[in-house]
Amino acid sequence: MPPAPNPTTPVGGDLCPPAHPTSPDPSEALVIAVTTRAIFNLEEEHKLYLDKGKEEYTRHQKSNQDKPLQPGTAFAFIQAAQYVNKKILESNPAEKDLFDILVLSNNSPESGVRIINSTKHYGKGDSIPRGACFPTGRLDEDSTQYLKSHGVKLFLSADRTDVCNALRRGTFSPPSHVQAPSTPLRVVFDGDAVLFSDETDQVFREQGLEGAVQYERAMEAVPMGEGPLKAFAMHLGKMRKKFSQEKSPIRTYLVTARSGRDMGIRAIKTLREWGLAIDEAFFMDGAPKGPILAQIQPHIFFDDGLHNIQGAQNVGVPSAWVPSCC
Ligand SMILES: [Mg+2]
Repeated sequence: MPPAPNPTTPVGGDLCPPAHPTSPDPSEALVIAVTTRAIFNLEEEHKLYLDKGKEEYTRHQKSNQDKPLQPGTAFAFIQAAQYVNKKILESNPAEKDLFDILVLSNNSPESGVRIINSTKHYGKGDSIPRGACFPTGRLDEDSTQYLKSHGVKLFLSADRTDVCNALRRGTFSPPSHVQAPSTPLRVVFDGDAVLFSDETDQVFREQGLEGAVQYERAMEAVPMGEGPLKAFAMHLGKMRKKFSQEKSPIRTYLVTARSGRDMGIRAIKTLREWGLAIDEAFFMDGAPKGPILAQIQPHIFFDDGLHNIQGAQNVGVPSAWVPSCC
């Protein structure tokens, strides 16, 4: 379920890392914004903040500042994105089309020392993004405007309110828990209401499976509308095309509840129409997604169905819920 809001203490400049000499060009880069609570597991600390308040939270973080935080849901994904950047730069040192990761932190300079130390612990400064840093409490309309103006195509947060504000601004989504191994980057997308619009879901809700199948037959030649993750997936696909299939540091997957027999064709035609190459597509015909996700071991799995998010968590796959409405 969507966790409660983040601590809302504004952060000072101390947490913001200096601009990196090889920072990606934001006009060309694939910009991802992620909150510290998505990168690191801060759930206990967050609970402390809610139960005992800001002062106690800050005191706790100060007295534990040398104790590294455990990785959070987005940790492996962010690491893998850094790996992709490394591979792209190896093949073309002048390439500007890279992942650009903005870290959004709600911590004050005092409580933020633990986050900086945790970053150093895991990556010696490299595995967790340098990127920009936005001083914010909970993301408000202004902050989400900031996300939009910086071209953020994916927003990972542990806070549903943040996500809903961002969605209204045309950016996006929140994660849950667990880990997966790193490199190369493996990303799994659901189809309806994630890559695609939720038009067929709506027909299904109103008319049942038979109605949805008939609708799909009638609409077979018409590409589906775009879902909240289309722009991110298209950019990922563009990066993916820089490499041959064997050498690609990115692998993308479609794992959809659609059946291949009745409802696969329109999905495939839509992807073709968009020019979005997906490495592998799985049509589950309503079967649970957990087992195939356990085989793929993605760094992140995007779905709008909470039962699918739960299924992913049950097999230890990091997952991000894509809310279709807020
Ligand atoms: Mg769906």
